[in-house]
Amino acid sequence: MVGQRLGGRYQLEERVGGGGMAIVYKAKDLLLHRPVAVKVLRPQFGIDEDFINRFRREAQAVASLSHPNVVSVYDVGQDEDTHYIVMEYIEGQTLKDLINQHGALPIEEAIRIAVQVCDALEHAHQNKIIHRDIKPHNILIGNNGRVKVTDFGIARAATSATITHTNSVLGSVHYFSPEQARGGFTAEKSDIYSLGIVLYEMVTGQLPFSGDSPITVALKHLQDPLTDPREINPRIPQSVENIILKALVKDPFLRYGSALEMLTDLETCLSPERQNEQKIEFPVDEEQTRVYPRITEDMLGQAQSDREHYRKGPQTEEDENGKKRWWVRAIVWTAALGLFVILALFGFNLVQQLFEVPEIDVPHVVGTPVQIAEAKIKEAHLVPERQEQFSNTIEAGSVISQDPAPPMRLKENAKVLLVVSKGKKLEEMPNLMSQSRSLAEQQLKLKGFTVTENTFEEKEDETAPPGVVIEQVPAAGEKIVPSETTVKLTISKGKKFVELPDLKGLTEEEAKVRLFQLGLKVGEITQVPTYLTEESGIVVSTLPFTPNMKVEAGRDVPLQVSNGSYPSDAKIGMEPVLVEYDGDREKRVRILVTDARGDKQQVVNEQISSSMEYQVPIILSPEKRTATIEVYMGDEKVPVQTRTISYDDIP
Ligand code: ATP
Ligand code: MG
Repeated sequence: MVGQRLGGRYQLEERVGGGGMAIVYKAKDLLLHRPVAVKVLRPQFGIDEDFINRFRREAQAVASLSHPNVVSVYDVGQDEDTHYIVMEYIEGQTLKDLINQHGALPIEEAIRIAVQVCDALEHAHQNKIIHRDIKPHNILIGNNGRVKVTDFGIARAATSATITHTNSVLGSVHYFSPEQARGGFTAEKSDIYSLGIVLYEMVTGQLPFSGDSPITVALKHLQDPLTDPREINPRIPQSVENIILKALVKDPFLRYGSALEMLTDLETCLSPERQNEQKIEFPVDEEQTRVYPRITEDMLGQAQSDREHYRKGPQTEEDENGKKRWWVRAIVWTAALGLFVILALFGFNLVQQLFEVPEIDVPHVVGTPVQIAEAKIKEAHLVPERQEQFSNTIEAGSVISQDPAPPMRLKENAKVLLVVSKGKKLEEMPNLMSQSRSLAEQQLKLKGFTVTENTFEEKEDETAPPGVVIEQVPAAGEKIVPSETTVKLTISKGKKFVELPDLKGLTEEEAKVRLFQLGLKVGEITQVPTYLTEESGIVVSTLPFTPNMKVEAGRDVPLQVSNGSYPSDAKIGMEPVLVEYDGDREKRVRILVTDARGDKQQVVNEQISSSMEYQVPIILSPEKRTATIEVYMGDEKVPVQTRTISYDDIP
């Protein structure tokens, strides 16, 4: 695609990389004259409309983020079948490249990078955006050392269906949190876990959990204990190890409460006061107390052969006990194989449901008032936890969502998270000024505004480029409920152009009035000698503009005005012309002259009743070297007299 132009504006210059979903090009934005990175979605995703919509929505959300450690998204577009995101171009390399080249990084360097990533996460989380795919490939290190996180939220666009026809999940699964691997409720804390893995990798040079298949890795995140980073690299300070351990607890409730909390810890961990820190201790990691049978990759491999065995039917020589064990094992293996297939297709959603020992059915409480919901949960001998969130659809005080939800089963006294509505959120009206119409439109839709034809109005504008927002109502920063607010955006049509009329022959005053009426300005006025007229003050031309030209409104139009004399090399002659006539009725005589002033100028037009002699003035120039005089009588179409006079004949 190099050399192609997208959206008439982004000229692709060079391919810089490609991942599972997209190919990234360095490009030039021809409108704003700046380098940009254009992420072009791979064609197989272009046909999945749902995916495209999610992809655009997420990119739009990220466009509202503005932070020095977040790669800015400038535009999202479509050119025929090609879907793309335009973002800030970062000259540099990815953190993955850096780790591949150097192995473990110096501790200070690793912390410096983690601080900046964490700062980016904090900003995004404040704006209710979860990254969902934090990994070193998505952390760019500019040549100036600045760390920038990219691909915010884009992972959300990919569903299990899109993941299965790429292997992009292979790269990401190493950084997935246990709850993400299970396909459960992903929130801010999943990003914190992923950053914990990245930090682990930066200081030890290795991944804590790895394996041949996404499932092996996912299972390890779910059930394997972590090897302490200091066991691999004893030079890691205890304070840094503590941060990693606290980010990587399997139970999200025991992890850092927010990116801000982790950021504060990261910023102070290398200070002298924290040199003698003790190793962090956790209460029992609840996630590990949930009941999972231990699953191993071996079991999954053996499942196939056992399944075949089962198909052949029971072997007659087995004793009673043997048969029973075989029967039990066959069911376990068949389930394990089924699990393998389901996991491969649907991204691990069902691990927990399939492997937990069923004890208590989680009651369904979504949509019910929180007091009733909590009572139901308690009645089932479970412990409700509350988290509040704004909602435009669920009224204040009712449950928006729950985790876990039916058909999940839990052990007694396990926690159930209830997300409870705080009612409609008064939001700040986003600043849409100077944004392209499409970007503004999608941002509005994303925030829940209704966008119709009437939302937009076009207007000419002297300064703004065509297609961008020049006025918005309500103003940026006003507190509103998006679903109940009518927005008006005025879009620039760019500069106005007017068609210049022919001003030749008008007086200087008349010409000035015409220009004023058209919204043009009077430029420099020059007095020029001209063959066109002997009068002074008559417009001769408007060069460099010519009649019918489209001229930007407000431009200066110069006027060249006659100064009342012919040019100095003009030759002026008087030619006597005798018109003979002796009829009894009057007859019309017309004399036309073609010379330097123009073609067929009528110099005589009158009735005569007898012969007349006229003195006919002619003017010749070095360019127009011959003049023609034609005399017509009455209605004759053919001249009765024609005469040519040459430049050299005139003294
Ligand atoms: P995934 O598909 O899982 O996101 P990935 O992150 O490796 O995998 P892409 O996001 O498509 O793949 O990025 C591919 C490469 O393009 C990156 O590794 C990086 O080198 C380069 N790249 C991405 N964004 C930018 C950018 N804004 N500026 C400069 N280079 C970039
Ligand atoms: Mg990426």
